[in-house]
Amino acid sequence: MTEAKDEFKIKFRGVRGSYPCADKRFMQYGGNTSCIEVNVGGHLVILDAGTGLISLGNELLKNHIMTGSYMLERTPIEATMLLSHIHQDHILGFTFFAPNHIATSRINVFGATNYNENLADELAQLLFTKSFPIDLGDIAANLNICDINDTECIILRHGSEPIVKNITDKDEFAMKEDDVVITSYKSYAHPQEGVTVYKILYKGKSLVYATDKESYFGGDKKLASFARGCDLLIHDAQYTTEDYLNPHSPKQGFGHSTFDMALESQDYCHAKKVIFFHYDPSYDDEKLNNIAKLYGDLADKADFAYEGLEINIL
Ligand SMILES: [Zn+2]
Ligand SMILES: [Zn+2]
Repeated sequence: MTEAKDEFKIKFRGVRGSYPCADKRFMQYGGNTSCIEVNVGGHLVILDAGTGLISLGNELLKNHIMTGSYMLERTPIEATMLLSHIHQDHILGFTFFAPNHIATSRINVFGATNYNENLADELAQLLFTKSFPIDLGDIAANLNICDINDTECIILRHGSEPIVKNITDKDEFAMKEDDVVITSYKSYAHPQEGVTVYKILYKGKSLVYATDKESYFGGDKKLASFARGCDLLIHDAQYTTEDYLNPHSPKQGFGHSTFDMALESQDYCHAKKVIFFHYDPSYDDEKLNNIAKLYGDLADKADFAYEGLEINIL
């Protein structure tokens, strides 16, 4: 068995863009919206809270119950959730995340909002007030919702709550060997308010999560420098180039990339591998399998996300 500290494991829980697809034609790749489980250095990091989060929550609850007969003797569930943005497909699973409703859980949620906004208020308005039977303030878990920006990093260290540091503070940024470090930047290549791209670093390996962004033909220079040399790049691949450029229904400006843009980003970033992610909800298994045939010769360079796909990069 792998020691938790030797683990940097990514598991895809929801790979669909825009809205969930509950239809048997979508079962191979999966119909749940964006959510990725990352077990890294003994910490649980969750990228986005789309409907894929629900199965993860149910699994965490089941494992939690098995740790003891009574609630207070059970091992608390701890998680760090990173939200790319607050479009519905990235937060829909949040209220149905079972650990949120257990008093001993410690859930830290991070995301970037715009000037004069804060993430907790945004989530309260979108997911709770009038939309859910309880209010955000009545969530049982110890929930900490925190705004972050490009100048900060999050350090996950055992025995401590997540530490948010100014990235220019070199002394404080000095990592301990087992630290997991998370950095981010806000890209405005997604309407209306942009999207946060995250990088998770651990023991010299790195994962970059770049969903819901239009990387343009010719590459996104900011992404290229942020993600340079990463081991795994999870990149928006909502459309085929043909659909993106379709004169009858053009997709330019929608804030999503094509499979080719994702590959181009990989080249610019010198990422070891790219994973196509956030498929258009009209792309059923047959269509995705046909696209996969076109990219079949990429072998180790690129892969298609599907629910249940696991990758260990350590
Ligand atoms: Zn999305
Ligand atoms: Zn979006």
